[in-house]
Amino acid sequence: NQISEICQAFEASVSTANLALKWSEAGLPVSTQFNDPYFSLKNGLAETDYVFIQHNQLRERWATWQGPFCVIETGFGTGLNFLATWRAFQQSNKQRSQQESAEENDLWLHFTSIEKYPLSKEQLAQALALWPELADLTQALLEQYPHLTSGFHHLRWPEQRISLTLIFADVHDALKELTGPVHAWYLDGFSPAKNPEMWTDELYERMRHLSRNPQPGKEASVATFTAASQVRRGLQGAGFKVHNPEGFGGKRHMLAGIYHAQCGPEQPPYFQQEPWLIAPNPRGNREVTIIGAGLAGCHSARSLAEAGFKVTLIDALGIAQCASGNPQGGLYVKLAADDKATHTDFYLEAYELALRSVKAQLGDGDEHNRGWQSCGVMQLASSEKEAARQAQFIAIRQPPSALIEVRDNGLFYPQAGWVAPARLCEALVRHPNIRFEQAELTGLTPTDRDDALWQLSFASGEQRSASTVVIATAWQAKELLTDAYLPVKNIRGQLTYLDATSAPAMPHVLCANSYMAPPLSGQLCLGATYNLNDPSTELRDSDHQTNLDHLKEFGDEWQSMATHNKIVGGRVGFRCTTPDYLPMVGPLADTRPFAKAFKQLSKNTKQIPQVEAPLIPGLFVNIGHGSRGLVSAPLCAEILTDLITGRSSCVSRTILEAVLPVRFLVRDIARRKVPNDH
Ligand code: SAM
Repeated sequence: NQISEICQAFEASVSTANLALKWSEAGLPVSTQFNDPYFSLKNGLAETDYVFIQHNQLRERWATWQGPFCVIETGFGTGLNFLATWRAFQQSNKQRSQQESAEENDLWLHFTSIEKYPLSKEQLAQALALWPELADLTQALLEQYPHLTSGFHHLRWPEQRISLTLIFADVHDALKELTGPVHAWYLDGFSPAKNPEMWTDELYERMRHLSRNPQPGKEASVATFTAASQVRRGLQGAGFKVHNPEGFGGKRHMLAGIYHAQCGPEQPPYFQQEPWLIAPNPRGNREVTIIGAGLAGCHSARSLAEAGFKVTLIDALGIAQCASGNPQGGLYVKLAADDKATHTDFYLEAYELALRSVKAQLGDGDEHNRGWQSCGVMQLASSEKEAARQAQFIAIRQPPSALIEVRDNGLFYPQAGWVAPARLCEALVRHPNIRFEQAELTGLTPTDRDDALWQLSFASGEQRSASTVVIATAWQAKELLTDAYLPVKNIRGQLTYLDATSAPAMPHVLCANSYMAPPLSGQLCLGATYNLNDPSTELRDSDHQTNLDHLKEFGDEWQSMATHNKIVGGRVGFRCTTPDYLPMVGPLADTRPFAKAFKQLSKNTKQIPQVEAPLIPGLFVNIGHGSRGLVSAPLCAEILTDLITGRSSCVSRTILEAVLPVRFLVRDIARRKVPNDH
């Protein structure tokens, strides 16, 4: 049943170009479905500036704004509004840089845009070519424009302090998945007369829900090109104080307004929200200490540094010395074929971001670049069970072939490849806001000081205080945070290194029960074993044998390599996994008060008490990446930065809930399984 539901959801999935687009004689894009142009026939760029940028008063607000500024747009269309906003944002930042130092300015533009009928990259390029003044920004957008798969796609230009979460979905479905905050609304989905399905009461209800409880001085504004009275009434009902300025280019009116709670009904029927999804208020101080310099810690450090934080990154052993110290790791995802839609949604969004991120750090991934190689990954259908699983996955998700190709012997990921995790980590920490220190943390205790919530003790005897701490030490987080509810497991993995001299040609990464990348420095890296509850760090012959046995799954030509005399070394690492194979990123619950506050869930999981969730202030984790850290760590780092800075989330509410560490406590409260010592 669940599978058929997913199938239905994905029948609506988008995978081809927008077929309802035609080009007018003047070369402007027009929707035949809605019989409406995408932008003003007079001057689309000037209209965007007038309607959306000026009437949301963006330039005035950006002149003094601190922290993230979040826009939500209904109808991404050609991306013109986004690019025009980006251009205005660049100009504002330039002006600010004349008055304050780069360190004082932590303004970040986070733009979320929803599109049900996305244009293909070629259509987007053709439409945006109408604006030569936006050519550079158009190019930057096209470089990252995602595959047309439904759901969330996260694009970022950190050196410009801009990110774009592009959601391919119906507006109503997408708004349910957003958590806010929002500081400006762009309502731009064809005219209400031609597209009444979008301009519904539910749209305004969702706007009210997302605009509620603003921080003082950070109330949401709204602007739209239409002056339809139905829209005006809808916005007023949603708590917006609305006025009717003159419209653009001869139109009589448009609508603009500001959220003002008193304007709406007194007791608004907000949608229920899990209180643990609301991020703790961002702290004024922009300093963070991250413990653990593997993939999770280094990606977190980079993301926070780019958002303007001064990061101290600490590790007892150095950068990428534990699990992230393997010479080569596969950058690809094994996607779930069954009813685990959230799992697949998370890894698809994470995979695309990881590809963009590794390219940004290590360049193109050609064969001369030994930090990573974009040689493709072949996921072999090595057994009937695996072949059936792959067939089911393809039937359900129908991924575009540019993302995943179906071949006779399995699935091929053309853009994937291998990465040297240590090379990636070293590139990530090369940022002026990141300082690395080698030191062993032995204790972490809360203080009663507001400006420095944590006291850190080191093996050297040194004591230090910190206001925000991120623990990214994989399974060792459990040793440090003894009171936290962290059901993580530690799984040993042994790699076998083989002499590649007489190995068969190997154009891509191969993976079946083990994975193996094309040779690096004359060696093949094969593995890894999977030993639960096994803390031994010794290399074992029996585990080398397991890896050699798996080698045969790659094909008969590999038989001759499956002997012990080809072995030239190996390595043991430990993966940190969670019961649901999704990472854990976000704040931790104060276990006992949390269990008490949400005791009610043991009786009825649908009735969630609408109280503040007892979360531990100033403490976050980013752990549980298993053997998929190359893919999951960049997206988790962004989720972490969203939570710490108060930026609206780059993942759906469903995914956020599925990766927050509190999920296991919530689940066990509902099952009445929280142990007494908690
Ligand atoms: N803002 C766009 C730009 O800068 O090019 C122009 C937007 S165009 C006038 C309206 C867009 O809304 C179209 O791309 C259309 O596909 C989209 N749209 C219409 N109804 C929608 C819905 N229910 N959910 C999501 N998108 C929708």
